[in-house]
Amino acid sequence: MSTEPLPADRRQLFIGGEWRGASGGGRFDVIDPADGSVLTDVADGTVDDAMAALDAAAAAQADWAATAPRDRGEILRRAFGLVNDRADDIARVMSLEMGKTIKEAKGEVTYGNEFLRWFSEEAVRIHGRWMHNPAGGSRLLTVKKPVGPCLFITPWNFPLAMGTRKIGPAIAAGCTMVVKPAGQTPLTMLMLADLLAEAGLPDGVLNVITTKSSSKVGEALLADPRLRKISFTGSTEVGRGLVRLAADQLQRVSMELGGNAPFLVFADADVDAAVEGAMIAKMRNMGEACTSANRFLVEESVAEEFARKLADRMGALTLGRGQDDGVDVGPLIDEKAVESVTALVDQAVDAGARVVTGGSAPDGPGYFYRPTVLVDVPPDADVNAEEIFGPVAPITTFASEDEAVERANATEYGLTAYAYTRDLARTIRLAESLDFGMLGINTGLVSNPAAPFGGVKASGFGREGGFEGIEEYLDTTYVALPAG
Ligand code: NAP
Repeated sequence: MSTEPLPADRRQLFIGGEWRGASGGGRFDVIDPADGSVLTDVADGTVDDAMAALDAAAAAQADWAATAPRDRGEILRRAFGLVNDRADDIARVMSLEMGKTIKEAKGEVTYGNEFLRWFSEEAVRIHGRWMHNPAGGSRLLTVKKPVGPCLFITPWNFPLAMGTRKIGPAIAAGCTMVVKPAGQTPLTMLMLADLLAEAGLPDGVLNVITTKSSSKVGEALLADPRLRKISFTGSTEVGRGLVRLAADQLQRVSMELGGNAPFLVFADADVDAAVEGAMIAKMRNMGEACTSANRFLVEESVAEEFARKLADRMGALTLGRGQDDGVDVGPLIDEKAVESVTALVDQAVDAGARVVTGGSAPDGPGYFYRPTVLVDVPPDADVNAEEIFGPVAPITTFASEDEAVERANATEYGLTAYAYTRDLARTIRLAESLDFGMLGINTGLVSNPAAPFGGVKASGFGREGGFEGIEEYLDTTYVALPAG
C-alpha cells in the first residue's frame, strides 16, 4: 500500500507508558489481505518484553486500584471521545490490516467504542452488600476488589471491539493489563493504546505486546503468579490450551471461543425479514465472526423461497478491496482461510449439496471467496459441523420444531442461535431449549455492549458487556461482623 498506516514510533511495543522496540530488535510484517502485499511492520516482542510488560502492570496495580472510580470512569469517557474523533482513521487502518469494508470498520469502531462508554458508566457502580445474618446476631458485608493484573489475548476478526470488551471493564474495575493483539491485526490495538494514554490512563495500566511468539509469551506470562487473570477471545483449540496453562497458577479465566450458530426459519416467519436478518448474521465481517450464522435450518414449506431470495441477495454483493467505494465484501484474512472455506464447500458438493450462487474463489490477487448459498446439504456435512468463518450459507430443511431444536443443539459449540418466528409461545420454548449463550429472535444481530455476550459448552465461559462484564474483573471479600 502506498501510505504508511501508522507512524514508525507507534509501531512499537507499549510498555510502562513508553513506546519501545523489541528487546531483540525484531520486527514482523503486517499483510494486506486484499492483495497479499506487505502493509507495514511492527515490533516482534520477546518473552523478555512480555515480562517487562507484566512488571509494569504489576507495579501500577496498587495505585490504579486505589484510584477513585470516578477518575477511572472519566478516563474511559475521554477515551470514548478520542476514539470518536479518530473514528475515520481507525476504520481505515482496521480495513487495511483486516480487509473488512470501511463501512463495516466504522461500524466496529462505533460498537467497540461503546464498551468504553458503557464501562465508564459502570466504574462508579461497583458495590458490595450489607445484610443481616439470617440467624441473627451478626452482619454480612461484601467488598469488591479488582482481580489484579490481567492478560488479554485477542483475535484478528474484530481488532478493536475484542479488545475494548476486556480493556473497558478492566480499567473500570481497577485492573492493570498486558494486551496481546493478533499478529495479523496489531495496528488497531496500537492506535487504541495511544488514545487511552492521551485520555490520561496512567503509565503501566495498559501495556501492549505485539509478537510472533504468541504461545511462548502466553506460557511465560501464565507461569507468573503476579498475573491474576486471563481473558481470551479466539479459537476453541487455543482456548483449551490456555485454560490448562492457567490451571498451574489458578488464574481466573474468561474464554470467548468459537461458535457454530444455527439460524432457524419457521414457516410462520416473515420470510423477507428472515432473509434480511440472514444477510446480517451471515455476511457481517464476511462471515468471519464467532456469531456468524453457520447453519441455516429452514422449515420445509418456506425453504425454497428463503433459499432463492437469500441467493439473489448474496449473489448481488460486490467483492473488492475494503477501502474502495461500492464494495460490499472484502477479502478473507489469509490464504489458509480461503483454502479452508474451499475445502468445506467442495466436501459438501461432493456429498450432494447444490450451489445456488458462488461456490468458488475468484482468481487472485487477494484472499477472496464468493458469497455462496448451498442447498440440499447433508446435515452431517463438514460445512454444518465446523465453524466456516467465511461467506457460505448452507441450507438444510426441517419438518418440526422438535427436529429443529435437536439439530440446532447437535454441536459442541453454544455461542449464538437465531430464530425467525412470529409465535410467542414458540419463542419462549426456544429460549429455554436452545443450548446457547445468546439467542436472536427475528434479528440477525445480537451484539450489544449493554448485553452479556458469551457462550456455553465449547464456546467458553464468562460474559463481556452488560452488568455482568465488570464482574469478570472483580473478586469478592466477605466480612463477618459481629453486631455489637
Ligand atoms: P486463534 O488462532 O485462537 O488466535 C487468537 C489469538 O490467540 C491471537 O492473538 C493469536 O496470536 C493468539 N494465540 C494463538 N495461539 C496461541 C497460543 N498457543 N498461546 C497464546 N496465544 C495464542 O483465533 P483466530 O483465528 O485469531 O480467531 C478466530 C477464532 O476466534 C474463531 O474460532 C472465532 O469464533 C473466535 N472468536 C470468538 C469470539 C467470541 O466472543 N466468542 C469473538 C471473536 C472470535 P497470533 O495472531 O500471533 O497467532
